[in-house]
Amino acid sequence: MAENRSKWIRTEKRFPLPDYARHALKRLDEAGHVAYIVGGSVRDFLLGREYKDHDIATSAEPDELCRLFPDSVTVGRAFGVIKVPLGIAGEAEFLEIATFRKDSDYKDGRHPSKVQFCGPAEDAARRDFTINAFYYDPKTQRILDSVGGMADLRAGIIRAIGEPEKRFREDALRLLRAVRFSAALGFRIDENTAKAISAGARLVSRVSAERIRDELTLMLTGRAPAGACEDLMSLGLMAQVIPETVAMKGIKQSSLYHPEGDVWRHTVKVVDCLAAQNTARSMELSWAALLHDVGKPVAYSRNVGKNFNGHEKDGMKLAGQIADRLRMSREQSTVIAGLVGNHLKFKDVFNMREATLSRFVMQDGFDMLLALHRADAAASDGNMVYHEFCAGRFCEMGTRPSAAEKLVTGEDLLQLGFSPGPVFTDILKWVEDMMLEGKLKTKDQALEQVVKNFVK
Ligand code: ATP
Ligand code: MG
Repeated sequence: MAENRSKWIRTEKRFPLPDYARHALKRLDEAGHVAYIVGGSVRDFLLGREYKDHDIATSAEPDELCRLFPDSVTVGRAFGVIKVPLGIAGEAEFLEIATFRKDSDYKDGRHPSKVQFCGPAEDAARRDFTINAFYYDPKTQRILDSVGGMADLRAGIIRAIGEPEKRFREDALRLLRAVRFSAALGFRIDENTAKAISAGARLVSRVSAERIRDELTLMLTGRAPAGACEDLMSLGLMAQVIPETVAMKGIKQSSLYHPEGDVWRHTVKVVDCLAAQNTARSMELSWAALLHDVGKPVAYSRNVGKNFNGHEKDGMKLAGQIADRLRMSREQSTVIAGLVGNHLKFKDVFNMREATLSRFVMQDGFDMLLALHRADAAASDGNMVYHEFCAGRFCEMGTRPSAAEKLVTGEDLLQLGFSPGPVFTDILKWVEDMMLEGKLKTKDQALEQVVKNFVK
């Protein structure tokens, strides 16, 4: 059936291929095999977008692939996928080459238990979305479209290939990929595909925590994270992957500070503002934006609907649990939870002692905390006073020594004749405070002042 719809399309512009891809295609061609560039890079080329890496699909069967590419790593011999190491800095690490295949008998919602080698049109049918199933033939400079991908690309539609319910049952990761591609490309999800996502949202629980984490991270650090969050929520996927966020919906806030709406609406807006203000943002900061108010529903019910006091502490705990559940590293989890736990500190900055303020602004990762606060403020009442004050201090601090740079050490105090004891801590803290307040700049100055103030 798929063969009948197959169309070869001539491309107007040249698809510039890096040497490693050209060499691999040539080697396959010279050995008498059909070999095409497939998937994401062809899609991105047609859209005039930058592409991440190239994949090759070929008629060469697994044994032949191993023979032609002796350095390759076999990913799944039965599936006919190899990875050829490139050893090129800055480029993708591997080139993936896969034999044209038909997958069947998905038992675990992730891996086919049987594959059969076939031609490109059948290979296209096992791929996820129509716009991900283009094959570029470098010899003729034509693109094979056997599943109506070109029409969907032109119309900006993410459409599952074949019967959506079946395709999502086969592999539930596709549920999240649909939302990711829709957000990344600014495409809408086809109605039947969207219905199947809603109906099959629970299947996503079959996907490993690591894969869920990676897909969500790609969405949150990508081009349109707010749209992705809204789609995940409205399609019922958020309830499966981060159920804690669902409670944010419908929790009302003061319209004075939050004219944007309830806690979920505010969250989506913060995610959006962060992306607008920081096109390149770390995964930790991006996750913190999504989770910064995740403690509000808990605090709200603890405080019997009166206020959200303490929500940052509740949020810190929940964010840590979510990060751990999604198998983030200890460090990532700590950074995300820390950002959530500290996101309200800005309202105290005008009451802080100089040294406390300096420590606040000079803490590790303050740039991320500041970016989160800026987005939080922009997404609520727009009060930028705290941001401007702290941003100014942060710039200024760049020229002052950091708390980690100690002007005076315990060793220095011993040499000055002090006996080790609690007084050491007092003196070192005093020196650090004076340094953070900009009153001590050099070691000599500091030693002189220690003698003046502490030697009886
Ligand atoms: P990206 O720009 O994110 O790399 P991509 O389309 O290249 O997007 P990859 O994950 O690199 O996506 O996969 C390469 C190709 O393999 C896809 O274009 C698609 O044809 C196919 N593919 C990947 N994952 C799946 C899946 N879960 N189910 C079906 N086909 C898939
Ligand atoms: Mg890719």
